Amino acid sequence: MVKSEPMLSVDEAQEMLLAAVGDPLPREFAALEDALDRVLAESIESSRDLPAWDNSAMDGYAVHAEDIVGATPERPVRLSVVGEVRAGGSPDIDLPPGCAVRIATGARVPASADAVVPVENTIAVEAGGGRLSADAPGSGSLSSTGFRANEPIQEACFVTSGVNPGAHIRRRGEDVCAGVHLLEPHRRVGPAQIAMAAAVGLGSLPVHRRPVAGVLSTGDELRSVGQDLGDSGISDANRPGLLAMCRESGALTVDLGIAADSLEALLGTLRPALERVDVVIVSGGVSVGPYDVVRAAFEALGRVELWRVAIQPGKPFAFGRSMPRNSDGRQVLLFGLPGNPVSALATFHLFVRPALDRLSGLPSPTVDADRAITEDRMCKSAGKRGFLRVTVGRDEHGSLVRDGQGRLRVRLAGRQGSHVLSAMAAADALAVVPEAIDELEPGAEVEIRWLRR
Ligand code: AMP
Ligand code: MG
Repeated sequence: MVKSEPMLSVDEAQEMLLAAVGDPLPREFAALEDALDRVLAESIESSRDLPAWDNSAMDGYAVHAEDIVGATPERPVRLSVVGEVRAGGSPDIDLPPGCAVRIATGARVPASADAVVPVENTIAVEAGGGRLSADAPGSGSLSSTGFRANEPIQEACFVTSGVNPGAHIRRRGEDVCAGVHLLEPHRRVGPAQIAMAAAVGLGSLPVHRRPVAGVLSTGDELRSVGQDLGDSGISDANRPGLLAMCRESGALTVDLGIAADSLEALLGTLRPALERVDVVIVSGGVSVGPYDVVRAAFEALGRVELWRVAIQPGKPFAFGRSMPRNSDGRQVLLFGLPGNPVSALATFHLFVRPALDRLSGLPSPTVDADRAITEDRMCKSAGKRGFLRVTVGRDEHGSLVRDGQGRLRVRLAGRQGSHVLSAMAAADALAVVPEAIDELEPGAEVEIRWLRR
């Protein structure tokens, strides 16, 4: 009998579940424009040096450092300007002693130069030999106002300060040497990793295939949004909510609609769907009432692995794996979540999300936790881990408020019944109240798990 089955703790359930999930999904290549938030499947090595050649860190002049030793504003050194290298331009200019080449930031440094003098430390010389733009307004010192676009190259410049050999040159391979590890696997790809890949010439990245999740609601009373509710129907809230949670977790989704409370209806929808999904998420019908047929359906499709978990909300919860394999040769993970919307969303957060993370290639459940002080008294049943819906205190600009120890302040987001969807919708986080505690007084510290920032 179901009643005699032991209740699993949240930790036991999560551990068993992750062991059952198995390996992450196989690797595929994602073009950089599709790579954001995907999980890298292997370490990336660079096949190039970055920078690929020595280039200038400043707008200025490429010089021989020894030509300008001891230069000062009072005793500037005159160099003949023999040419210019622009970013993207050829550096194929020879630099005889006593000469300089005008150079732009990022331009390749001519092989015969060994330093760059910033334009700020130079004074251009006009054709007749006089100084141009000697003083920056108000500075009172000799300094150039910099290069202007389309300004002709001057025939010479005065350098007002010496530089060490190598100054203001970004060396080949200084950022990345060919062969080094650039990006580590098991992490989500963000904008900086996409920029890094592009910088070394990679147009795509090896990532894990995204999980495909089918979401089904069960209940004779359920109607899709927009359908007539009659005198006893209710809108199906779970399916849009769970589909969104899947997408938020990086999964692709298949909307399996609504099934009536019968084994035939459930199997009629689930059986054909197994082929094309990695995960099935059913909400409702997982309890022990006469019309709760989800467990029986899972048993017909495969094996049910867990049943009752000591959490509040969300105690009736089922997990199994299908015998028929999907088109990728994998057993489909079967999740039966409670019908009450708060319980459905909370159990997704606790059990489905870690499984999707694991399939996606992330190493362990990614928990976005924080510490807070509760301003309200928090009650829940003894022996279960409570996940209470809370709002997090903010100032008048909406910024989070933390105390000297970095702790947030939380309040109950509303009534805590598992049917009270308005409290879930108002909540920023779930406050975690341990099994051994049935009541937290105002002022007590509590761990929270962020739902949205
Ligand atoms: P059940 O788990 O099927 O016993 O359902 C528990 C409660 O959740 C009942 O009040 C159902 O009407 C409600 N419920 C079940 N599925 C949904 C759903 N998809 N959307 C909104 N409420 C639901
Ligand atoms: Mg039901």
